[in-house]
Amino acid sequence: MTDQSMATQATEWRVTLSDIDLGAEETAAVLEVLRSRWLSMGARTLEFERAFSEHTETTHAVAVSSGTAALHLALLAVGVKSGDEVIVPALTFVATANAALYCGARPVFGDICGADTPLLDPDDVERKITSRTRAIVPVHYGGYSCDMDALRDLAERHAIHLIDDAAHAIGSTWKGHPVGSLAEAACFSFFANKNLVTGEGGMVATNDDDIAAFVRTNRSHGMTAASYDKHRGHAFTYDVVSTGYNYRLTEIESALGLVQLRKLERNNARRRELVQRYRDLLGEIDGLVLPFAGRDDESACHLFAVVLPESADRQRIQEGLKAAGIQSSIHYPSIPGFSAFRERYEANVPRVDEIAARLLTLPLHPLMSIEDVELVSKELRQFF
Ligand SMILES: *Cc1c(COP(=O)(O)O)cnc(C)c1O
Repeated sequence: MTDQSMATQATEWRVTLSDIDLGAEETAAVLEVLRSRWLSMGARTLEFERAFSEHTETTHAVAVSSGTAALHLALLAVGVKSGDEVIVPALTFVATANAALYCGARPVFGDICGADTPLLDPDDVERKITSRTRAIVPVHYGGYSCDMDALRDLAERHAIHLIDDAAHAIGSTWKGHPVGSLAEAACFSFFANKNLVTGEGGMVATNDDDIAAFVRTNRSHGMTAASYDKHRGHAFTYDVVSTGYNYRLTEIESALGLVQLRKLERNNARRRELVQRYRDLLGEIDGLVLPFAGRDDESACHLFAVVLPESADRQRIQEGLKAAGIQSSIHYPSIPGFSAFRERYEANVPRVDEIAARLLTLPLHPLMSIEDVELVSKELRQFF
């Protein structure tokens, strides 16, 4: 697609699926980095890590280049390796499963609880645990936490690791505790459409000293000291202790992250208000399921996904919304249905299969107005 056609397409929408709250503060923060002449992993990254660990109430937060890098390193840190199995939900972004594949492990797909709660079902996870299972990676879909009591209990009883994919859950809580503090490690993404954006970026939050140390070393080539340590006179040389990666975050991204973190609570509160209005306006449609009713207070409300009635024609609805200038999406096509997975990884996930073709994501972002929600709801209602 050419730049020009992308620009034309972007201006077509009256209500876009997502948008980001970027302003003068972010511009100033980025310019300050450029003037400082230190562009990757330095003072701002340390400050972002400190602020993020405070936010998640964890002892460590280690910045990395993406949410996918966070998942990869967290799984390696707990020893996931070739021949292992890692249980992931079938209903998630493909990166959750890919992270297991990068380690040489096999992703085993868990089912969801149901249309009301499209989150990894602990009972199904338990059925799928084998002697090869090394880790479970729950995804807090849409920002709503999985049942961490049940999953932690399972992990403990079977002596397997629990690593959160918290990409949707920046600012979510579970029973009063921040998501990020509830598993052995939690992996966050700051990709350009998440609740906190740095363009590309990620974080591993953990209370485990060994996991934190592993991620720190292996995000930067397995080296025992970083350029910034040498710059500050803390080291003259270094050892290489493992075959690490280049998964570093830049200072530009960290500077954006620091500003965005200060806005997070306000923007998440705005998302909750908008979701509340959607629920008021769409709650009465026969056969339309609005998942997670009553749970918005603890959610970062990253996505507003609905489950259409069985008889609905999703494509016709998406086209109708588009004609009204409203962008919609699908989170997600089931991973085992993708070409790269279909033939190699069988999956027994009847509840995902039942709703996968009925999922529809409506616009939700902190710059939306209540009137936007009313317009989207009015247009959607016309199909029922
Ligand atoms: C965005 C996302 C990721 C990947 O994060 P990146 O920063 O894009 O690598 C992983 N899992 C889920 C559920 C996501 O939404």
